[in-house]
Amino acid sequence: MNLILNNLNKTYANGVKALDNLSLEISSGMFGLLGPNGAGKSSLMRTLSTLQEVDSGSAFLGEIDIIKNPIALRKVLGYLPQEFGVYPKITARQLLDHIAILKGVSAKKERKELVNYLLQKVNLYDKRNKEVKGFSGGMKQRIGIAQALIGNPKLIIVDEPTAGLDPGERNRFHNLLAKVANDVVVILSTHIVEDVRELCQNMAIMNHGQIICHGKPQQVIDEL
Ligand code: ADP
Ligand code: ADP
Repeated sequence: MNLILNNLNKTYANGVKALDNLSLEISSGMFGLLGPNGAGKSSLMRTLSTLQEVDSGSAFLGEIDIIKNPIALRKVLGYLPQEFGVYPKITARQLLDHIAILKGVSAKKERKELVNYLLQKVNLYDKRNKEVKGFSGGMKQRIGIAQALIGNPKLIIVDEPTAGLDPGERNRFHNLLAKVANDVVVILSTHIVEDVRELCQNMAIMNHGQIICHGKPQQVIDEL
């Protein structure tokens, strides 16, 4: 599965050009998108998660036309936003069950098995009946990954995942992400170089709405 972006352009109403003829090809595995604040990373992530339209350009995940057919993309999209932290008063299990319903897993028994499997996978099964509101930052990120995995996504977008995590939580989050990344395009948007160096097979550096360079983290980061 490949993600192919061609000449994406986005200018906001205030005149800021957030995506400037951006082209990029990303194959399955972990891909790191690095860049300073204001580079356009979030604009690109919002575009790929179908939350925002572009002015021109194309984006394909395999056969799926992300720009023209966002509904098809949403069926195979897992999204972990920057702050996965606004919850009603519900438990970890209820949260995942609810998201599974939204993603179209209708059979109750199937949902129960899926939710239990995911809770175990992200090491939160013991906390399944606790309110997510009371979770630590690292636990919230892990439940965030669990919800992003519902529905066998082919593209997973992770926006600034380790901001605010302590080193232990960051490590656990890294191990988890590395495990889920086979046969799926995972894009990690971050300004933390170590996240990319430790986790990603390929990466790009973005600034002023453009890709400045891309390649293996070893090569790209060493040339900085
Ligand atoms: P669009 O051109 O996509 O319609 P708008 O310029 O209308 O986007 O802004 C959409 C939303 O983003 C508004 O709620 C606005 O307040 C907010 N916004 C405006 N400027 C910025 C900015 N520099 N960074 C982040 N959000 C912004
Ligand atoms: P990054 O995620 O790399 O910090 P963004 O995509 O958030 O970059 O922002 C790219 C540029 O677009 C910045 O100059 C930002 O202020 C501007 N911007 C982002 N969102 C909006 C918006 N909704 N309306 C107007 N300007 C925006």
